[in-house]
Amino acid sequence: MNPLKLVHLYPREMNIYGDTGNVLVLRKRLEWRRLPVEVVPVQVGDPLPTDADIVLGGGGQDAAQGDIGADFAARGAELRAMADDGVVFLAICGTYQMLGHEFVTLEGRRIEGVGVLDVVTHGRPERLIGNNSVETPDAGRLVGYENHSGLTTLGSGVRPLGTTQPGRGNNGKDGTEGAVRDNVIGTYLHGPVLAKSPRFADDLVRRALRRRGEADELEPLDDSLPELAARVAVARPR
Ligand code: GLN
Repeated sequence: MNPLKLVHLYPREMNIYGDTGNVLVLRKRLEWRRLPVEVVPVQVGDPLPTDADIVLGGGGQDAAQGDIGADFAARGAELRAMADDGVVFLAICGTYQMLGHEFVTLEGRRIEGVGVLDVVTHGRPERLIGNNSVETPDAGRLVGYENHSGLTTLGSGVRPLGTTQPGRGNNGKDGTEGAVRDNVIGTYLHGPVLAKSPRFADDLVRRALRRRGEADELEPLDDSLPELAARVAVARPR
């Protein structure tokens, strides 16, 4: 099997809370199963491998999002075409926001999105910060934490990734967290989220294998440690 290609967007600028860990988790879970995997970082100015199987991007401060804004926006047509072609995306917080139509910061600075996800985000004075978990229909409970000023509103072109507790998630109001369209998944959960959500990690891999027409049966792994970590994390105060 050709290696599964994990494309990691802006690892320098968009890793504010260690979301690069999501790339490491996917790579290790594939290596443990002796499945070939290749990780390709994409920095500002680098070509975007459009034959990616899974595209990952992490969180970033408003300033970092501004720093990559023009480069990211210039890739809009490629990113939309990849999403339309079923490429799997995992976008965390700042990258999630920029896959939408726009992120207008608290100071009123408009950071253009690429329109992969039908969402819009506006910065507000009260930040949503703290441990959080999300119940999802596709991958069970996701466990992580959030820290964002941007409040995201979902349009008709996406569905929520899951439901969360009042005062958290996309906007602290509608009980939704994240957004999904085809194989594109955005979420506010840092952690890295995949480290304590092994079912979610495997769901992403299965989506990529199915898109390739490959068997999506994955050898079971001993997930007792990440599951213990998730139980401890959800028991922690916000
Ligand atoms: N800068 C964005 C916000 O504050 C995203 C933050 C993040 O990626 N954690 O909403």
